[in-house]
Amino acid sequence: MENLYEFDEEYRDTIATVDEKGKRIWVYPKKPGGHFHHRRIVVAIILLALLFGLPFVKVNGDPFMLIDVFDRKFIIFGIHLWPQDFHIVALSMISLVVFIVLFTVVFGRVWCGWACPQTIFMEMVFRKIEYWIEGDATKQRKLDKAPWDANKILKKGSKHFLFILISLLISHTFLSYIIGIEKLQAIVTQPPGENLLGFISLMVFTGLFYLVFSVLREQVCIALCPYGRLQGVFLGNSSIAVMYDWLRGEPRGRLRKGKVQADKGDCIDCKMCVHVCPTGIDIRNGTQLECVNCTACIDACDEVMVKIDKPKGLIRYSSYSAIKEGKKKIFTARVIGYSIVLTLLVSAVAFMLLTRSEIEATI
Ligand code: SF4
Ligand code: SF4
Repeated sequence: MENLYEFDEEYRDTIATVDEKGKRIWVYPKKPGGHFHHRRIVVAIILLALLFGLPFVKVNGDPFMLIDVFDRKFIIFGIHLWPQDFHIVALSMISLVVFIVLFTVVFGRVWCGWACPQTIFMEMVFRKIEYWIEGDATKQRKLDKAPWDANKILKKGSKHFLFILISLLISHTFLSYIIGIEKLQAIVTQPPGENLLGFISLMVFTGLFYLVFSVLREQVCIALCPYGRLQGVFLGNSSIAVMYDWLRGEPRGRLRKGKVQADKGDCIDCKMCVHVCPTGIDIRNGTQLECVNCTACIDACDEVMVKIDKPKGLIRYSSYSAIKEGKKKIFTARVIGYSIVLTLLVSAVAFMLLTRSEIEATI
């Protein structure tokens, strides 16, 4: 994406979470809150209920969702897919990829902020527990610097105990989508020796989830997630993203006598948008690879705007073209092209599903 501002671009040479010596800078985001955050909580509760509840849902005695790679048994939304349906699975996968590309070209990283399991578990489950036990960002920083006394041991111990419990729950749920709830129940209720492979898988997955949510955190989105890494290719000037309205905000300046200076923009450089960011970036530098569209900076800035009596939305969902030219362009040639390809693919998958026979035999 082209340069949004005329300022220096030094921020592009470094990652907010790594210092000059290459050492990790731990992010202590301030507790988020506000209009978007409350809506995200509702969405997160619904999605978590679906994730944990679906393995128990049965259709005619079979699971609603099953991806049993070991027995090559796949049930997607109650539809059985057999090994001879491999071409349908392959075409469905291609359709899914085209859908993801199309969705991202139009809506940017809405998925990351609202529906990605990594963000939901990190921001809505693990981070909430951390705020509950250790307090807001300043208290967490203080606790980390404090010596290991009884208070610190109790807080850190109980936090990590809960983290491990939730990681166990996630790994069990994850495995139930692969082997089915009955086989999982057998692993849980029988001695480990009887289902050694299943038991080891559960422990390995638990360890991985614990590592992701207690140590890796935002680094998963910044450095590991392939979808996150591809944003530079997908996003265009018309893609919707969390954007800072630089035309309205610049030149930024501090409040004088509680008022925005007449010759300055609406940004009062309070840095609240930076303090709440879970990936440690300053959205005022423009769209960045690290931004997971979590909306925390929108809520933080809106709160500031209300206090200084300015309209909300200095940081908002918008696009580069919408801010620069004041025009919202959704149906670009790229979007139309992807939509045609996707329609053809989905029609082909639907046709194959409707006309396939239950049994196929080759003698
Ligand atoms: S929260 Fe809003 S006003 Fe404060 S620094 Fe960020 S953009 Fe500027
Ligand atoms: S820049 Fe804003 S939307 Fe993006 S990750 Fe940071 S707080 Fe979330």
